[in-house]
Amino acid sequence: MLDVSNSYIQKVQCTFRGIEPFAFDIVRDDLIDTVISGNKWRKLKYNVEKAIHNKNEGILTFGGAFSNHLIATAKAGFNYGLKTVGIVRGEELHTQSNVILKACNDFGMQLEFISRDAYRRRNEKSFLADWHTRFPNYWFVPEGGANFYGAIGCQEIIKAADQQYDHIYVASGTGTTATGILSATIQETRVHAVSVLKGDFLKEEISKLLWYMLANDEAVNLYMDRLELNTTSHFGGYSKTKPELFGLIRSFYDQTGIPLEPVYTGKVLHALKTDYLGGRIHRDDRVLFVHSGGLQGGKTFAEHLPFLVGR
Ligand SMILES: *Cc1c(COP(=O)(O)O)cnc(C)c1O
Repeated sequence: MLDVSNSYIQKVQCTFRGIEPFAFDIVRDDLIDTVISGNKWRKLKYNVEKAIHNKNEGILTFGGAFSNHLIATAKAGFNYGLKTVGIVRGEELHTQSNVILKACNDFGMQLEFISRDAYRRRNEKSFLADWHTRFPNYWFVPEGGANFYGAIGCQEIIKAADQQYDHIYVASGTGTTATGILSATIQETRVHAVSVLKGDFLKEEISKLLWYMLANDEAVNLYMDRLELNTTSHFGGYSKTKPELFGLIRSFYDQTGIPLEPVYTGKVLHALKTDYLGGRIHRDDRVLFVHSGGLQGGKTFAEHLPFLVGR
């Protein structure tokens, strides 16, 4: 089973622009693995178990050229004796195009490069049927690990918590991680899914994933009532940044020693800070920040965030 035992919940305190110190908890999924983004492990855990249980030959999945999910799948397959196939967006790419694809290749992943047009069809039945013909005994995992098994793996992110939280903040790409957390919390906990992409498709994605788990409209609505979708901290879209974001991440590192990066978790800190300063969360609220990892992509930002080098 994928080992997630390095993760733990840490208490931190930090100050935002002259405001009194604000204390919250942070779940350190960044410590799960040095190479692999924490939540990618969580999303693969039950997919890997399923593939082993099914006696599948391997796992087939999808991703962009810089996908944390692809490299996580490649390494998980390598560790657990499963072959892996990665369908990559971009027919012009090859196995040596960048560090992520190189690492996937080194872990033995078979990379298949397809056009952006073809990639758009990645969830269509007829498209998947063609790949099933080529790889008949493979367990198929959608892009980003966004399936039922991915979501139940993410329920365990808050397993170590010994209390109820009023607010949980988490970065969202496909929304799978937020879905797992939402489905594992009850009553008053509000789950703030901080979208790192532009657009408001996440509500639909999250309710679809919740439906896989609950299979009941009323139950889905009850859970969705506790979702706070944040669409104002993405800084212009995926991988887009601003000096303000780097400043915030540096300040947090100086105060706590905890490294964040600007693609996912830095944006969560920005959302948390904005909500705190705006009075939407209060000093006495019990708040949990999910550090979902992502630090291996940090080298790209070394100029602004030198502490990310070598992670
Ligand atoms: C991939 C990733 C996410 C997004 O998770 P989803 O389950 O797709 O919403 C969040 N944080 C980090 C660090 C990631 O690498």
